[in-house]
Amino acid sequence: MTDTIAAIATATGAAGVGIVRLSGPNARTIAAQVVRRSLQDQPPRLLKRATVYDPQSGESLDDGLLVHFIGPHSFTGEDVVEFQGHGGMLTLAQVLQAFLAAGARLARPGEFSERAFHNGKLDLAQAEALADLISARSVAAQRAARRQLDGSLSQEAHRIAAELQEALARLEATIDFPEDVGELVPETVEAPLGRAAQRLERLLAGAAYGRRLTEGLTVALTGAPNVGKSSLLNALAGAERAIVTELAGTTRDILAEELVLAGVPVRVLDTAGLRETDDPVERIGVARARAAVATADVVIVVVDATRPEPLALPEQSFVIAVNKSDLASPELERFAPHPAVAISARTGEGLDALVQAVIGTSVPASDAPLLTRARHEDALRRAAAQIHDARVTLALGLPAELIAVDTHGALAALGELTGQTTREEIIQGIFSRFCIGK
Ligand code: GDP
Ligand code: ZN
Repeated sequence: MTDTIAAIATATGAAGVGIVRLSGPNARTIAAQVVRRSLQDQPPRLLKRATVYDPQSGESLDDGLLVHFIGPHSFTGEDVVEFQGHGGMLTLAQVLQAFLAAGARLARPGEFSERAFHNGKLDLAQAEALADLISARSVAAQRAARRQLDGSLSQEAHRIAAELQEALARLEATIDFPEDVGELVPETVEAPLGRAAQRLERLLAGAAYGRRLTEGLTVALTGAPNVGKSSLLNALAGAERAIVTELAGTTRDILAEELVLAGVPVRVLDTAGLRETDDPVERIGVARARAAVATADVVIVVVDATRPEPLALPEQSFVIAVNKSDLASPELERFAPHPAVAISARTGEGLDALVQAVIGTSVPASDAPLLTRARHEDALRRAAAQIHDARVTLALGLPAELIAVDTHGALAALGELTGQTTREEIIQGIFSRFCIGK
């Protein structure tokens, strides 16, 4: 990584200010060429006026402010220069072109963060948190990303790793110095392994919620006409958005509503219901409803407590919402063993319980680090499985070598979270999904 990269770091479009960022060993000499003055007498981290010139034609392109950072004291850990100019798309593109003409290379998506990771400025979980922070669609997701960026997840991973290391130290002492250390005292290994397992379990408990925070959730409402699907959507949205009528089959099309339920971004689809019909317009609605239901993560099957009807259950996970509980007391036992919640779209009764059932997990305590990606959960599940194996091996009184192998395996899986043991292709894949200029 000896080249110097450049990119527009701010969002494209008309804006008051736009930033072009450079990082790499030649950042300051390239910048000096473009602003036609040396950065020698400009202290790092201080803004100073600068004019950007086209290196070929000498034409002045923009006036603004220049700041530079000397590696390793920068975001990437390398020498970094930022030019803050006017925010127009064309101006920023010209300024970027000037830096490229002076010897910088256009940065790939996420390349600044990738360099920060390789230079030890951020671990992998923190770099992911940065991407999540930028793309957060709810306050809860934004907060989770901030905590992860602070390193709370990484710190928890380090605490678990420390327990494993303690177990390993005991195991390796009996393996390497059997005369001095003597027989393995199982409790001295079991205790740290048990603590590691407990911490992992706590992290994994919030995994489904954390992943839904960042990835969001698509929920489809199905059920016969007039059971109250549109009313439920309105009640969840807290406003009259869908058209609610007394006539069966009025929701001809699919209505999608972007909501935030229990902190999770949720896209709720109200469908026309899945019933056979001869009306051609209604048939299109039914076909589209089927397609929408097929792609949803969770389906809310709405039924009317006053009118028991045969149930059409979807293939994926679902919750039965027995609506109009204000009119008739719903007999939930009828739906066992399927999950069913009594609600009233009219009075709002049962909506919180329905949301909890749909989100699928209880919302974890607000200060716990959250697992926001499937990658984290997968790595931690493998670590937990290896710790489990190590404890079983220990309980069976098998040789310390075998317990050490499992413990090493758990440490390696854990290290994937922070990137210590992550394969390079995976690292590159993670950064390639970042935006340009980050
Ligand atoms: P959809 O066809 O399934 O979308 O049903 P709608 O939402 O259009 O509702 C059909 C009728 O049921 C309307 O007259 C609603 O006011 C009424 N309704 C919906 N939910 C409730 C409820 O919880 N309680 C009562 N009493 N009426 C409801
Ligand atoms: Zn409707």
